[in-house]
Amino acid sequence: MRHLHLKADHYSALERDPAWRWPHFTPYEMRCQGTEKVKVGFVFMDRLQAIRKAYGRPLSVFSGYRSPEWNLAVTKRKSRTGAHTHGRAVDLWPAGGVEDVPLILNLAWTHGMTRCGLMLSRPEQRFHLDDMTASEGFAVREDSRGLFCWTYP
Ligand SMILES: [Zn+2]
Repeated sequence: MRHLHLKADHYSALERDPAWRWPHFTPYEMRCQGTEKVKVGFVFMDRLQAIRKAYGRPLSVFSGYRSPEWNLAVTKRKSRTGAHTHGRAVDLWPAGGVEDVPLILNLAWTHGMTRCGLMLSRPEQRFHLDDMTASEGFAVREDSRGLFCWTYP
């Protein structure tokens, strides 16, 4: 069950689909901004919704799913295979701003996210969460004591 995804070639196909069970996030927000496609992991989205519910305030989404070709175009490393291409990553910003970032990180770990990326100079520009695992080839904390974290230049 871990890797079941909800997919559509155009996000609008999911706007009234009862399978979209995450009331605080829309297919439009989670769509690939290059292709308009959507692919999201059910478990990942359940985690994101749980974080949103526990936080109790809006989480603005800047980037959700990215198709491999769009990821190649927008990432510095020119990758076709980042966490966003798996439909299990989000770049977001909490309504409460930078002082709520530690709280969101705590909630993310509590609700099963595994990794975060932060731009420390301008955190509102990039705050990434995903739930990728070591067995899928992604770096995580080996001691499983918290999120694996990196920073963006
Ligand atoms: Zn990201």
